[in-house]
Amino acid sequence: MEVVKTIERVRSLVKKVRKQDKTIGLVPTMGALHIGHISLIKTAAQRSDFVVVSIFVNPTQFGPSEDFDKYPRPFEQDSQICRDNGVDVVFAPSSEEMYGQSSLTWVDVDKLTEPLCGRSRPGHFRGVTTVCSKLFNIVLPDFAFFGQKDAQQAIVIRRMVADLNMPLEVVVCPTVREKDGLAVSSRNKYLTESERKDAPLIYEALKKGQTMIASGTKETRQILDEIKEILNRSKLIEPEYVEIVDAGTLQPAEVVESELLIAIAAKLGSTRLIDNIRVDASKY
Ligand code: AMP
Repeated sequence: MEVVKTIERVRSLVKKVRKQDKTIGLVPTMGALHIGHISLIKTAAQRSDFVVVSIFVNPTQFGPSEDFDKYPRPFEQDSQICRDNGVDVVFAPSSEEMYGQSSLTWVDVDKLTEPLCGRSRPGHFRGVTTVCSKLFNIVLPDFAFFGQKDAQQAIVIRRMVADLNMPLEVVVCPTVREKDGLAVSSRNKYLTESERKDAPLIYEALKKGQTMIASGTKETRQILDEIKEILNRSKLIEPEYVEIVDAGTLQPAEVVESELLIAIAAKLGSTRLIDNIRVDASKY
């Protein structure tokens, strides 16, 4: 495995791989790798001949009051995880390498970036889509792997790839959870002991929503009330949004039909957690 810091070097490596008619899989990450990232890497290794993991804490997707400086950067540990999981190249550029000459160009997806996380994180998705476009242009992958954990991000990227005719397939992998249901996240380590104890209520609430849909409840209002009641069991959970939206448009759904996303963002102290469940209502 090679750790690469420059765009030039990664380009020359993938050029050689392409010449051998091998497929390339890219797993974009911000590092602090955990079992969620590892599941993406493993899927990438199954689906592609050559796996590139990018590790880049992308400044343009953080708001001014967010945790960019404080974001964990355990680089040696991350490299070891990549080495142990069959990664061919870790691409870990500096901010200067990625945004050297101050960039004037942004990639922005309309509408899908406005609801849910878009409301409280203005500019976040523009940072994500711009950095992913840059990574796609540098690595030229056949497949790019994203987690369902960040459902809105995956939907936005898939739309960008389709709208801009980018020649790659976006693969969305299931959310990896702790035993008690909490979605694994690099930010979980910020939780205090009592916050960590209450955090699984988020998944419990999502599951309740899923069960209500499966057992025939049709009004989303009724489901949202139950979900909020479960979250209210903890004084430490401050919901930012609790929504049931159409999984294609991300617009609120009033009645249960088609593919839905039940999505929650909540603060526990200063830590913001997100989670979701996708439900295909046509199955019930
Ligand atoms: P991040 O490093 O947080 O930007 O995440 C990099 C990728 O890993 C994104 O596509 C995330 O959706 C994905 N990811 C993060 N946590 C999980 C998880 N618990 N399960 C599956 N994928 C995840």
